[in-house]
Amino acid sequence: MDKYDLAIIGAGASGLAAAINASRLHPGISIALAEHLPRAGKKILATGNGRCNMTNLNALSHPYRNFDFASFALNKYSPQKVIDFFASLGLYTYTDSEGRVYPRSNNASSVLDSLRFSLGDNIRLISDINISKACFKSGSFILNDSIVSDKLIIACGGKSSPVHGSDGSGYMLAESFGHSITPLLPSLTPLNINQSENKSLKGVRASSVSLKLICGKNEYNSCGEILFTQTGISGIAAMELAAAAGREISSGNRPYLSIDYLPEYSENELRTIITDIIGHRGGNPPESLLSGLLPKLIGVSVLKKAGITGEYIKSDNISDTADKITREIKNSRYEITGTKGFADSQVTSGGIDTGEIDPETMQSKICKGLYFSGEIIDVDGGCGGFNLQWAFASGLLAGELNDQNQ
Ligand SMILES: Cc1cc2nc3c(=O)[nH]c(=O)nc-3n(C[C@H](O)[C@H](O)[C@H](O)COP(=O)(O)OP(=O)(O)OC[C@H]3O[C@@H](n4cnc5c(N)ncnc54)[C@H](O)[C@@H]3O)c2cc1C
Repeated sequence: MDKYDLAIIGAGASGLAAAINASRLHPGISIALAEHLPRAGKKILATGNGRCNMTNLNALSHPYRNFDFASFALNKYSPQKVIDFFASLGLYTYTDSEGRVYPRSNNASSVLDSLRFSLGDNIRLISDINISKACFKSGSFILNDSIVSDKLIIACGGKSSPVHGSDGSGYMLAESFGHSITPLLPSLTPLNINQSENKSLKGVRASSVSLKLICGKNEYNSCGEILFTQTGISGIAAMELAAAAGREISSGNRPYLSIDYLPEYSENELRTIITDIIGHRGGNPPESLLSGLLPKLIGVSVLKKAGITGEYIKSDNISDTADKITREIKNSRYEITGTKGFADSQVTSGGIDTGEIDPETMQSKICKGLYFSGEIIDVDGGCGGFNLQWAFASGLLAGELNDQNQ
């Protein structure tokens, strides 16, 4: 059996950051970094559409799930500290107008390279090894009866996008140490709607819309772009509501989505605009009525849902027609029947119960010497670099191997 000071399971964003920080802070430490794919960091290459949106300057005010738990790590290894960490690995970045940070090369492989090339000789990357068994015996951690270590970091990610290695096996490892896993849901994934409702809109995009997911008294908001698909609604604004929709549906509730296609106008302003448009275009076929305001097919769908049918818009009751159209543009409703699954999701919501982990060290409160980092913990955020910020921040913190609070 090979013996190490530290073993890390999972060479993804978080495990790589943890290995490098542990090595920097504990010179001479021997580290085994176990990865079941043939290469480290495969998922990093797919992030940000191949550009890797690696952090976001607004992370400290982002509504992460379990933010109270995550805030120590996010403050200690703030977005600027993560940027500085990468600069210390030779990677330079730029920030866009919304605080999203990307590598200056605009290429996710630069991020992975900077991490890979910084693994010193004391870190042994053992790839193609699936860790299926881990235990603590006679003062040591033992993995697959072959790797022995004094300390262990589990950084296996969640169960989203398993083609990139995160197949959920880390949860079983955590459970074998007595940890509990909160309910798991795919997050940042498209919403499913009733098939018949969106047939005509497949492939249509709408930008700068405002969305409300409504379920009884609960309301969840987002804004940005949406894209109608074969099965429902995709686009960042819709995907950000997926975890909330999944939670409501798994509690037996029936949420619906309310789309405001033109949030920049109040109802009164919009009614005046629509009245004006009917005055100009009322004699034309309805398909063209809203084409100066909305993508054409969305305009057609709005009229249909508003019950405005017929060959021409009638000019005898303009005010009633304008009312109906305005209401539909500001509140176009779709029943949400579910979400796409883990395979199509970017992040898993749910994970190791944060009450069982010390937020200041990432050490297990159940098993001394055991640490967790990244998506495997019940912390997740929206699109925009927030999930990698969490993976890096918690990985860097776990890599300190601090046990001051035990
Ligand atoms: C397509 C896509 C795009 C994304 N884009 C962004 C983005 O631009 N910005 C952003 O902030 N977030 C993005 N995310 C989310 C982000 O990539 C993850 O939240 C982040 O990678 C989590 O890091 P992690 O190290 O915790 O887990 P992972 O990156 O999933 O790494 C876990 C590693 O552990 C390995 N592993 C798992 N189980 C075992 C085992 N039993 N034995 C050995 N090895 C194991 C896996 O193979 C994997 O390499 C994206 C996700 C996807 C899927």
